[in-house]
Amino acid sequence: MGTKGTTGAKGPGTGISRRSVLIGGAVTAAGTAALARDRLKRAWWRLPGVEKPRTPGQVDYARAEWTAASPSNWRRADRPDDYGIDRVVIHVTQGSFQSAVKVFQDPGHGAAAHYVVRKDGHVTQMIRELDVAFHAGNRSYNERSVGIEHEGFVDRPQDFTAAMYGASARLTAAICGRYGIPVDRKHIIGHVEVPGADHTDPGKHWDWDRYMKLVRAAASGTGRKTAS
Ligand SMILES: [Zn+2]
Repeated sequence: MGTKGTTGAKGPGTGISRRSVLIGGAVTAAGTAALARDRLKRAWWRLPGVEKPRTPGQVDYARAEWTAASPSNWRRADRPDDYGIDRVVIHVTQGSFQSAVKVFQDPGHGAAAHYVVRKDGHVTQMIRELDVAFHAGNRSYNERSVGIEHEGFVDRPQDFTAAMYGASARLTAAICGRYGIPVDRKHIIGHVEVPGADHTDPGKHWDWDRYMKLVRAAASGTGRKTAS
């Protein structure tokens, strides 16, 4: 499950911060209006996330269905251009699929993941991979990762069905393929492995050996196909 926090507007690696644009705006009033306006004109689109057109309902993973999370639970960005993506973070919701979708739609929740995987293998995307989801409880890990929630409880191994493992593994393999993320346990991690995390998911019953084997199989399959 996600953790609150980690908001902020600045994007490293873009060469310009929101703050410097605002300062540019203040200079306008001081008299160098034309110059500042010109600088603003050239600068505003360089802010993370501003330049790429978004299509409502669009998904990054062909097998996913779209349900939008509340904009309060993520931050607009322009990954991987402003932040590189090199991690997939595995979560368990501590609740049903429906309850996870509902809280991610709740602006008061303050957290959400990019994807939620149901026990029957259904995948819902709630936040674009372009954007920073508040799921890891660690700002830099939020900025560099894609978060996947799994329906169920950490103390109920029966919740982690074959359909769920398979669907999640295909999703993770597709994400790794998209961003060139190595398929290993250094880059595909549990929420519990995020530095500073106070969450224990996915817990001791999450079968990492089984999961990584499925991800590797799906990743080698992805190499031969162009799908998703
Ligand atoms: Zn979690």
